[in-house]
Amino acid sequence: MRQSHLFTKTRKEAPRDEESTNAKLLIRGGFINKEMAGVYAYLPLGLRVLNNISNIIREEMDAAGGQELFMTVLQDKDTWERTGRWDDKVVDSWFKTSLKNGTELGLGFTHEEAIAKIMTNHIASYKDLPLYAYQIQTKFRNEARAKAGLMRGREFSMKDLYSFSKNKEEHETFYEKMKDVYMRVFTRLGMGDKTYLTISSGGSFSKYSYEFQTISDAGEDTIYIVDEEKKIAINKDDFTDEVLADFNVTVAKDDLRQERSIEVGDIYSLGHKFSEAFGLTYKNEQGEDELVYMGSYGMSPSRLMGAIVELNHDDNGIMWPESVAPYRVHLVNLHAQNDEVSAFADEIYTALQGAGVAVLYDDRREAGIGEKLKDSDLVGIPLRAIISEKNGAQIELKKRKEKDAHLVSKEQLLSLVSK
Ligand code: ATP
Ligand code: MG
Repeated sequence: MRQSHLFTKTRKEAPRDEESTNAKLLIRGGFINKEMAGVYAYLPLGLRVLNNISNIIREEMDAAGGQELFMTVLQDKDTWERTGRWDDKVVDSWFKTSLKNGTELGLGFTHEEAIAKIMTNHIASYKDLPLYAYQIQTKFRNEARAKAGLMRGREFSMKDLYSFSKNKEEHETFYEKMKDVYMRVFTRLGMGDKTYLTISSGGSFSKYSYEFQTISDAGEDTIYIVDEEKKIAINKDDFTDEVLADFNVTVAKDDLRQERSIEVGDIYSLGHKFSEAFGLTYKNEQGEDELVYMGSYGMSPSRLMGAIVELNHDDNGIMWPESVAPYRVHLVNLHAQNDEVSAFADEIYTALQGAGVAVLYDDRREAGIGEKLKDSDLVGIPLRAIISEKNGAQIELKKRKEKDAHLVSKEQLLSLVSK
């Protein structure tokens, strides 16, 4: 992508009402546009990052046996009344609207009800189970506070997977497996070393559920680290002696390390709550009806994008991990007014593209050297390749996360990036 064609502009200042580091940097870099608190538009660079994150999640969900579907945002009142979750006193984050004839509708904040109802048309026999279905879709939540940028949206992207099993045992095999699948996603996003499987309260069907919490001062949650090696922690909310005993924690409560953290995902056993409400049953091998046992597994690509920025930035800008970066190489022509230098930069651009490398090419003629370097740091592409009068036929390479640069030839650059 030629930067001279990119319609987004970087800016020196973030909007004054923006408090979070992630949104400030993402707005300044031209990744997102703030529409209002908790509501952001994704611009070309931002959409590339969001898609990269979603695709990593998609690959891991597919590998775990998930089948992707796409449900609706508009939700029917009757469906949600069956579980009692239409009531604003039960769910305080609904956005509700209505049809012209007055029929009430809600904008989906999650999809357990919707998918349980869909599955009544598709699950009939024990032969249909287990099955796993997921979507990556926009969720709407009327959050009381939306000050954490992409990490707490009122309109945000969520991957929600739902499991349908014959019984608790079958459910638990998959539930255990998903703990590893989730950790694999976080590792691929470059946040594995800071992410803890966190014991949390379970609700009506299981004593415990699990959250995945990533240590960061920008987080809204607090966790207590129980096992550093195995990356296990306890959520601040249900933190009692009973929980410690259940998980064989021998360390005294006061001695556990406390950390601020971001909830980057959670997994729940739902038991029969939703299958009972919708009559979601299957015929067992004896021909008798049994209720389907459900689980749900959430994580948010947009919250993850915000979290990645919180974890990977310095005073000058973002430092994207390679796996999610909008482009792999930032090719910067410092002397775009010089035809000879520009011809060489064009040649490198074409060669990189030919090698299948995603390149952002700063070919702007009007931007100054300082401006180009500042923008490059702000946008945070992992590898910067500078072409300049001074370097001649050599290319100056610098990783965004490192200080030192070194000179390479065209051939060296190509062999390095095609690895
Ligand atoms: P939180 O406690 O942070 O409000 P939650 O437990 O209500 O989250 P879930 O309903 O379990 O969230 O949603 C699944 C996942 O979606 C969460 O683990 C979190 O990563 C993400 N998420 C929840 N709310 C938001 C939001 N407003 N903006 C972005 N991501 C969100
Ligand atoms: Mg949660």
